[in-house]
Amino acid sequence: MIADLNRLPYPARELLHDCHGYEAEDMGLMMGSRGCPFQCTYCASKNMWTRKVRYRSVENILDEIHTVKRAFGTTQFSFEDDSFTTNTKLITEFAKQLIAQKMSINWSAITRINLLSYELITLMKKAGCNHIRVGIESGSPKVLRDTKKGITVEQMRTGAKILRDTGMYWSAYFMAGLPTETEDDIRASIELMKEIKPDYCTLSIFTPYPGTEIFEQLKRQDMVTEQMDWSKFSHASPHNYFSPQIPKEKFEELLDIFAHEVDKHNGNIRRLFKRAKSKGSVYIQQPSELVGDLKKYLSWRKNKE
Ligand code: SF4
Repeated sequence: MIADLNRLPYPARELLHDCHGYEAEDMGLMMGSRGCPFQCTYCASKNMWTRKVRYRSVENILDEIHTVKRAFGTTQFSFEDDSFTTNTKLITEFAKQLIAQKMSINWSAITRINLLSYELITLMKKAGCNHIRVGIESGSPKVLRDTKKGITVEQMRTGAKILRDTGMYWSAYFMAGLPTETEDDIRASIELMKEIKPDYCTLSIFTPYPGTEIFEQLKRQDMVTEQMDWSKFSHASPHNYFSPQIPKEKFEELLDIFAHEVDKHNGNIRRLFKRAKSKGSVYIQQPSELVGDLKKYLSWRKNKE
């Protein structure tokens, strides 16, 4: 474990093969911290980093942003930290510095929906944050408890309201196929998605990562082994079936329904417009980003047909 993350050099993006063939935005992936203090049973963060969070200093993060902006012209950054807002004091300072230095960048971050406040999101937005990503995973209180998510459905409603009221563009990750899930639980997730109305949703099929608490539970039930052919499993694989409470055919049918609802939700024209608006200044500074996003949108439409 490296205690002081400021000692690390920045990723050598220039060593990527044909590094100027990437979109400027691709070079903007960063991490401001390592680790997450929470203990969701399906997550491998604690296996990787332990639950002790280590943070880079605000100066160190800002310097990397300057460096990447100078080298690649990047104006859209993306923080891939497990939970970006666990240290409110640090994030507040980071946002204030971005505003003070008139950095003219946009950035997105992943966090927990119960770690948001109206004041914090407003400040982050003012500092260029144009996208917040949160893990909802399930709309069932029972599944949230079983997975030690540490967030209630009520807290999700509150967080969603904060995000909506601030006008922040936000997306939510949902998951289906958790081991104790029933048909009703999956339907509860679909209902919660419709109720809290994220601007964009992603649906994943549960995958038991080796070493996680849930993997150990499944191992005791003889549902997984260390020797399984893991190349067959992914968040979109038809082989992923670890929900004994739902017959396999029914599970596949529910997945189809959920995926269809997610697609319908994401295709909403008002949400697509909000997405484009959140990236407005990036498009003005880098028209190639607009062309890239339009291409992605057209290919998504084509796949739907
Ligand atoms: S909050 Fe996110 S990163 Fe932290 S343990 Fe849960 S799933 Fe993992």
